[in-house]
Amino acid sequence: MQFVRYSSGGGGHWGVLDGDTVHSLADAPVRSPSLQDVTTESYRDHVGRLADEGALTSHAVDDVRLLAPVPEPGKIVCVGMNYRDHAEEQDEEIPEKPLLFGKAPTAVTNPSSPIRIPPGIEEVDYEVELGVVIGREAHRVDAADAADHIAGYTVVDDVSGRDAQFDDGQFLRGKSYDTFAPMGPTLTKGDGFDPNATDVSLRVNGETKQSSNTEEFVFDVYDLVEYISHAMTLRPGDVISTGTPGGVGIFRDPPELLEAGDDVEAEIDGIGTLSNPVVDGT
Ligand code: MG
Repeated sequence: MQFVRYSSGGGGHWGVLDGDTVHSLADAPVRSPSLQDVTTESYRDHVGRLADEGALTSHAVDDVRLLAPVPEPGKIVCVGMNYRDHAEEQDEEIPEKPLLFGKAPTAVTNPSSPIRIPPGIEEVDYEVELGVVIGREAHRVDAADAADHIAGYTVVDDVSGRDAQFDDGQFLRGKSYDTFAPMGPTLTKGDGFDPNATDVSLRVNGETKQSSNTEEFVFDVYDLVEYISHAMTLRPGDVISTGTPGGVGIFRDPPELLEAGDDVEAEIDGIGTLSNPVVDGT
């Protein structure tokens, strides 16, 4: 099932995307879901039945504005070098344990909203990533139980200011400029979606730059939830960004970094395409 947050003029509402139709979860007979609700199969079944019965208000998806599914994550935990080819393009060893870093929650922006190049930052880069949204608190959870704590999956573009990232010797500033975490367009769970076996790709101005499958993960989604939840409690609304495959701009020869006027499309099969234009920020 594909949940979306959307705006049709006012604030954000939850809905269910079915093809070109958004079924609203803002009105009776359902209450607006929490991320914990979305996590449970019984809630998804309930909503699916109401949609099938025509009991929910519907909108054409083109008539609404899709929003980031988690506008204000408690934290964004990113994983570095979690695809073999991305480690190789940096001449780095495959890591023996997950390499974690943070991204400020204020970096989140919506589908179709611009990625703003900050003043003084010249090396802005793209990274398509599978985002894991936590729906139920996870404290020292085993991999075998991890799925019970996941509300769903979304697309994250882990945008980076490479000059800031490399100048600082650690990642927080370079990864955290406002608009550097586009997220969406759906929050997907169930219906056979396998987060550890799905195609991921990214295009700039229609040209494919990254193309892989999450089967190439060094550490899969459930192993990451186990590892991270043994270091810190994960709460509903926290997001794990699971790393990017090879093909990022900075390691191309010559480097191909984002410029104002570019259009970036990050796509994950089963979740959707997250599109963002690039503009000069002020
Ligand atoms: Mg990344």
